[in-house]
Amino acid sequence: MVQCVSILGSTGSIGRQTLDIIDHLNISIAALTAGTNAERMAQQCRKYRPSLAVMATEDAAKALSAIICDLPTRVCWGEEGLIEAATVPEADCVITAVVGMVGMKPTLAAIRAGKRIGLANKETLVCAGELVMAEAKRYSAQIIPVDSEHSAIFQCLMGCRRKEEIKRIILTCSGGPFFGMDKDQLTKVSKADALRHPNWKMGPKITVDCATLMNKGLEVIEAMRLYDLPLEQVDVLIHRQSIVHSMVEFTDGAVMAQMGSPDMRLPIQLAMTYPQRADCPVDPLDLLTCGSLTFSEPDVDAFPCLALARACAKKGGTACPAMNGANEEAVSMFLGDEIGFYDIYYLVSKAVESVPFIADPTLEQILKADQLAREFVRREMRNK
Ligand code: NDP
Ligand code: MG
Repeated sequence: MVQCVSILGSTGSIGRQTLDIIDHLNISIAALTAGTNAERMAQQCRKYRPSLAVMATEDAAKALSAIICDLPTRVCWGEEGLIEAATVPEADCVITAVVGMVGMKPTLAAIRAGKRIGLANKETLVCAGELVMAEAKRYSAQIIPVDSEHSAIFQCLMGCRRKEEIKRIILTCSGGPFFGMDKDQLTKVSKADALRHPNWKMGPKITVDCATLMNKGLEVIEAMRLYDLPLEQVDVLIHRQSIVHSMVEFTDGAVMAQMGSPDMRLPIQLAMTYPQRADCPVDPLDLLTCGSLTFSEPDVDAFPCLALARACAKKGGTACPAMNGANEEAVSMFLGDEIGFYDIYYLVSKAVESVPFIADPTLEQILKADQLAREFVRREMRNK
């Protein structure tokens, strides 16, 4: 079990649930980071007394400093601050719970400092997964997935010694708030509808990604990178109840599934206790009352983002960071009421085509593809 943790994105949904588990396990905190929510960060600093607190902007850092001027906590801001939080010597584990590409450089820095990574920030693996996994191997840094599906696969693979024994991974997908709707109905959905997820309470970006099924597309790529498997070995099944968190089928036909209550605190805790397990403050799964478990094929016609993500996964290279950057930008516009639900798909698919393709990109080329895709989306939007 880890002893001391830094949390990147401690004020968000995963960040706060991580603090819940930290209270429960009595782990100490080295550093906390947030975007702009200085009030919530101040409360966390008062309770956990980290040596370092980092905000995204200078203004937010000034606001935080003013509230916690009586505490010994040092306050920093920006990318350099995030990297410092990811590498503080006291921490043996970094939970990456920031949303978006902003997590990439700090995650790489934490890996190079040999920290265990509790990885929630899937965008980092989608954009630079090959590079990140290679660095983790080089620096012997453990990456333990926090994403519930990937944690489920991680658990199903405990005890599997040879990758050749895996026939395929089956990622389960709740289907989101718009399950069963056709294209016509989907053109009329609102932001409020998209933010109403049936089974999970999460941050706004991932909630919209769940509604478009882009989240599952990102997770297909995340699984390919984490478990070094080709696209053909990663399938997706709709499972409305979110009780089976994912499955692995082995070459002999055995299928292992990890089940549990839909509560992120279980995978978050495992990322910190692994290889041990500990008592967890999550409601146990009651098989007698959880109802029937159902499985069906995803509707990629109505939800084309999943097919788009699979196409980018197949292409590899800069297609994945271009898709991710365009998606981050388009989702932020959707959340700002600037575009409609289907515009997300149209903008992202056009952006992917517009960014020059590089098959084996360097980190700089990945960052460039991300930037070009974002610029494309903003330009398209202005010319609309
Ligand atoms: P939230 O939006 O709830 O939280 C995001 C965190 O990142 C907040 O602490 C926020 O600070 C901070 N942040 C936002 N923008 C920046 C920035 N530009 N620079 C630095 N920090 C920033 O997101 P979630 O917790 O839902 O998701 C976090 C990650 O975990 C995502 O990658 C998501 O895909 C993944 N994940 C989430 C799950 C969930 O259940 N929520 C499940 C599986 C994966 P502030 O509060 O100040 O805005
Ligand atoms: Mg997930």
